[in-house]
Parts: sequence; structure tokens; C-alpha cells
Amino acid sequence: MKIKARKPDWLKIQLPNTSDYKWMNQVIRDNKLHTICTSGKCPNAAECWGAGTATFMILGDICTRACKFCNVKTGKPLAVDVKEPFRIARSIQIMKLKHAVITSVDRDDLEDGGADIWQQTILKVKEMNPETTQEVLIPDFNGLHHLIKKVIDAGPEVVSHNLETVRRITPLVRTRAKYDLSLEVLKYIAQNGVVAKTGIMVGLGETEEEVIETMQDAFNAGVKVFTIGQYLQPSKEHMEVSEYVTPEQFARYEQLSLEIGLKFVESGPMVRSSYHAEKHINALK
Ligand code: SF4
Ligand code: SF4
Repeated sequence: MKIKARKPDWLKIQLPNTSDYKWMNQVIRDNKLHTICTSGKCPNAAECWGAGTATFMILGDICTRACKFCNVKTGKPLAVDVKEPFRIARSIQIMKLKHAVITSVDRDDLEDGGADIWQQTILKVKEMNPETTQEVLIPDFNGLHHLIKKVIDAGPEVVSHNLETVRRITPLVRTRAKYDLSLEVLKYIAQNGVVAKTGIMVGLGETEEEVIETMQDAFNAGVKVFTIGQYLQPSKEHMEVSEYVTPEQFARYEQLSLEIGLKFVESGPMVRSSYHAEKHINALK
């Protein structure tokens, strides 16, 4: 059952004010880094940061795209910061992270889409944190295989690329990105022998049939890890929530995706692509 109403109780957010949260915030600030946890106004910051998990955002905090659901700043990005890979690796070291999640803004302004900095970041994190596993949530690199390969060859354990929504709604909410191109990216990741992961938001007006079709498309592309979470409107300027999907419906989506054959699924109102990411790694070992 789905309802359209004021924000329901199951979406009440815990305020991020624990000592662990404050300490991590300080490390991130000291190292002049960005996280999608804060840039994306993620509702899980208290829980994740309290548990020592964060998703770093590289290549600056200004995206060349302007998706209608996303709170990341959009515009002309600043010049690439070649020291960023070291600062990411050092922060992971200070935080003693066992599993690090890294993502980036889209850099359509760069000839290589930022692939070189991606590669350097993964390698530097490995060098300074040899025990830390890495999950990288990458842009589509406009589908250019040699750029995606550069990231894969650096050796992250999981490579993720989000479909974000079902096929029909994609052109309404994602600028430039295409549903089939994202599927191609996922297929290419899986073909290269690395764990492929993707995620979608619900509450954008999709039907259950469309969600099932998306799960099936992801499975057919070779995806092993699938996440489904509730879309929340970050500000009045962003796309409105069409509906608040119930926890029961999320449980049904989880069951359906496992039946399709997806190996590991996180489905729930507060789930984000990087939510409980360390569990995916453990489950796939
Ligand atoms: Fe950060 Fe991901 Fe946790 Fe949100 S779910 S707070 S983005 S690590
Ligand atoms: Fe946000 Fe990614 Fe879209 Fe950029 S490409 S606006 S970071 S969702």
C-alpha cells in the first residue's frame, strides 16, 4: 500500500550531534574534503557517522549536471585539486575506516571526466590503508569504456553506478544521464569481474511494475547489490515527493528483488546507495 501525505513517522530523522559525528566532521573539515552525507543532506548522517562510516565526494563539490532530486551544487566546477587523493587517504587512515565509500560529482568539463583523479584516489587509499576495502560510486563517464576501465583497474572491491529511478521517469529527473547508458555502464563493470552495484529512489511516481522491471534490468546487466530508498525533497527548489512508500512495500521490493536473483538488497525508507555499505562487502565475501 502506498500513501501520499505529510512526512510519516518512519522518516523521522535523528539529529546528528554525537561526539563521533562531531569528530568526523572535524576531520573532514580539517582536510578540506566533501561528503555526500552533508552535500546530499542525507538523513542517515547521525547513524553512519556515529558508526564511523562516511561517503567522501571527490573532484570538488560542484557538479556539471543538475538532477532535479539532487542537493549537490551545480555550475562550473573549480580546477582539479591534485592533492585531494592524499587528503582522502589520510582522512580514511585517521578515521580507521574498514570500508570506505567514495563518490564524485560529474565532471563533464574535463576531457577524462575525472578518471585520472579517481584512479589516483583509489591507489592512494590502498597504499595508505592496505586493509581498507573500497566501494566507488562512479558517474557514467558518458559511457566511455576506457575511462571506466581506469577506475576498475585501480582495484576497488565494489563499483557502483546508480540508475536512480525507473526508465520512464529518468528523463524527467536526470539531466544528461540516460537509463540505457547507465545499464551499459553496469554491464561493463560486471563484465570486468568486479562487484557491480546500483540503487534507485522510489516515491517519484513510479509503479511497482516499473520497479520490478528496473530490478530485472539491473540483474540482467550483472548487478549483484541493489538498494532502494525513499526520495526526500532536499529543498523547495527540488522535485516534489510523489508519495511516501510504506515500510511494507519496501519489504515487498526486497523480497521481489531477491526472487529475481539480486544477491544482496537493501530496501527501506532511509536506505541510500551507501547505507550499510560495509555489510554488502561482508555478504559478498
Ligand atoms: Fe553518508 Fe551514505 Fe550514510 Fe548517507 S547513507 S550518511 S550518504 S554514508
Ligand atoms: Fe547530483 Fe550526480 Fe546528478 Fe550531479 S550527476 S546533480 S551529483 S545526482
